Amino acid sequence: MNLLNILGENKKHLPTMLWVARILNMIIIIALIYFGWNVFSEDVKYTNLTSFLIWVVWWPMIIFMVVLAGRLWCTMCHLKLIADAFDGFGLKLKVPKWLMKRGTTIVLTMVIAVFILHSSVESYGVNNFAYLSVIYLIVLTSYAIVIALVFERHTFCKYFCPLVGFLGNYTRCAPTELRSADLDKCKTCRDKECVKHCPNKLYMGTMDSQQQEGCLLCMECVKHCPKNNITFRFRNFFKGVWDSPKRSVGGTFAVIVVFGILITEFGENWEIVRQTITFIPNALAELTGVENIAGYKLWKSLWLFLVEPALILGICGAVAMIIARKDSAWNYVKIYALGLLPMLLSMHLTKHFINVNEHLGYLPYVIKDPSGAVTAEAIKSGILTPPSPVLFSGSIEGFALIIFIGVFGILGSLYATWKISKVNFADDKKQGLFSAIPFLLMIVFLGGVFALTIYNWMVAVL
Ligand code: SF4
Ligand code: SF4
Ligand code: SF4
Repeated sequence: MNLLNILGENKKHLPTMLWVARILNMIIIIALIYFGWNVFSEDVKYTNLTSFLIWVVWWPMIIFMVVLAGRLWCTMCHLKLIADAFDGFGLKLKVPKWLMKRGTTIVLTMVIAVFILHSSVESYGVNNFAYLSVIYLIVLTSYAIVIALVFERHTFCKYFCPLVGFLGNYTRCAPTELRSADLDKCKTCRDKECVKHCPNKLYMGTMDSQQQEGCLLCMECVKHCPKNNITFRFRNFFKGVWDSPKRSVGGTFAVIVVFGILITEFGENWEIVRQTITFIPNALAELTGVENIAGYKLWKSLWLFLVEPALILGICGAVAMIIARKDSAWNYVKIYALGLLPMLLSMHLTKHFINVNEHLGYLPYVIKDPSGAVTAEAIKSGILTPPSPVLFSGSIEGFALIIFIGVFGILGSLYATWKISKVNFADDKKQGLFSAIPFLLMIVFLGGVFALTIYNWMVAVL
């Protein structure tokens, strides 16, 4: 079923409609800057429009949208609007070849996303303060402008956006895909208008799940294809994880880092796990006498977001190498790291669901009092009661999320890993089986720990 048919002939206007959506988004961003500027109190964390929209609506929405169509957020992203606006000016330099090779820019953007943006949010509590959230928005916007002014057109979204790494990977889990409806038509197509108008130079004739990681869903190809030959259709959940086995170093690095972030964010909610995962960075801080540099949690960021997840996957790769005896540990890691994606996505969704469920009830207050000071004061003095969770509450929420992680995440990852093994080792089933075993066991073990963490965090505490 071609979902674009819902729009009929209007599908040609999709890029314009998306452009309007980006402008509306930009207007909201300007409002956020206005209402968060000069708001220094932590009391308005959920009652101020800026901190509420960024941390309770915006970030969760980006992840929830993945479940529908991968990089759906890109269709309305204000940063693309800004980058496109500044693309016409400046130096227009070509991106160096070494940066384009083997996904180097994904590594670079993940380093920026995790070790600058995410770690700063964690270290300085940016999400607790409206004025810091405004600075966060301005830094992101300035970064897009600088890249647009230095490099040639479309460089920011293709190589430098901090969301490229994890959104690209998650795209493989999405149940929808943009494809050529008839590959024979593409073969005989002379002008290849889809490539000419694609900001990332993707060709529909060879589009697969690997290339789809780079698709911004801007719909320029749909508008310009002279043969009306592009379809936006459903596929099985997670199919993209195994149906296109090519992997870049950068893509694997992105999985490792997202894995690290989610282990940390889940682990913090169960004391035993928290102590286990922070044992090494705490020991390093004691040994060196340095825990923070200007408030930045150096050892924790490096260990938790990079070394620890790389070690877990590295051990699985080494065991696979020993028992399968055919390939290197690193190659097995590159092949099987993708299998983790359903579990990581389920954890990411769970984390954001808890946040949205608990805090979305503040929305009517935020609409009435965007600066949030009056509402916060009324809640503090007992005149107003803090809102209840919008959907589930208490242990019901905990059990629902354990079931979700179990079915969507753990079973999804086990199935995806098994399929990866079948696709990659179709000619050598023994190698496929032996190399998959350590990764399957790791998913079962870690999935169990994550489910137990939710139990201890949301059910046992009651
Ligand atoms: S790649 Fe980044 S900047 Fe570009 S549209 Fe997507 S999220 Fe926005
Ligand atoms: S323009 Fe249309 S028909 Fe031509 S290659 Fe692209 S998708 Fe295929
Ligand atoms: S293939 Fe290119 S032109 Fe088509 S939606 Fe994706 S990014 Fe846009």
